[in-house]
Amino acid sequence: MFFQLEISLPDALREPVTAVLYDRGCAGIEERDDALIAYFPDSMNPDEITVSLSEFHGLTISREAVEEIDWQAAWKESFECVRAAGFLICPPWRVNNSHSRESGNPDETLLLIDPGNAFGAGDHVTTLTVLKLLGRWADGRDNLAEESLLDIGTGTGILAIAARIMGVGSVTAVDTDISSVEAAEKNFALNGITGGARIIHGSIQDAMAEYDIILANLFLEPLLGLMRPIADALSPGGALIISGLLAGQEEAVLKEAARYGLSLSDSIVSAAGRPAWFSGMLRRTQ
Ligand code: SAH
Repeated sequence: MFFQLEISLPDALREPVTAVLYDRGCAGIEERDDALIAYFPDSMNPDEITVSLSEFHGLTISREAVEEIDWQAAWKESFECVRAAGFLICPPWRVNNSHSRESGNPDETLLLIDPGNAFGAGDHVTTLTVLKLLGRWADGRDNLAEESLLDIGTGTGILAIAARIMGVGSVTAVDTDISSVEAAEKNFALNGITGGARIIHGSIQDAMAEYDIILANLFLEPLLGLMRPIADALSPGGALIISGLLAGQEEAVLKEAARYGLSLSDSIVSAAGRPAWFSGMLRRTQ
């Protein structure tokens, strides 16, 4: 790691001492009122650096190790709770009682997501727009308990978990990435989801059945490639929510979807940030 030299010095020597420190391989200098704090990698020899400063008079030099940065703690600190579509999505370490479904707001449901190494902490616009479209779809259904859902590329499991909590009776989540499958399993358990849900390591081909709704927050290429099995797996009148497309890329996907009888019924283009993303809901009409 690093060690630091605290060098007290008269003002007139700041500049020349700084120059020597950088010349000796200093990684950074913090300016204090009457001192410089210079950081060096551990591979360097502090005695040699002190000797090279001996031409200057009136310096007092003391050496200290630099505390190691706790990267794990810093990473955890970077995750905030996110509000979307009636959910308060939080990493478990942000919530005091992880068994409580109450977020403090009676209209909001707590969704616990430990991102692990998977995508889908709830902080990405492509995830949040799917949640919104899913909410709109759910509002139009009479009995969610009778509906079945497939989440292709589940990542942390966030969308599948949200759907199950909304009341969708049968939820299947697939992902080709094993660490996503592991993260999703952990998050299903964190949210107390046991029945009515399964997680499969693989893709739609490993979960062929008839679904009332399919979610696919994927990039352009996999979406294009999977359109045929997606259409095959949708019940008549079933819905497909696509996301992960940059605005403009949807044209190719909608064209491909039309070949299999799917047409656009709702969409959200997020222009708040750059780039702009497209998310859409398609219906199987044939
Ligand atoms: N559904 C989550 C995660 C989306 S990230 C959310 O909306 O936030 C996309 C995920 O799709 C990744 O975890 C990736 O591993 C997975 N994936 C990519 N191509 C896939 C494919 N052909 N079949 C299944 N999963 C795939």
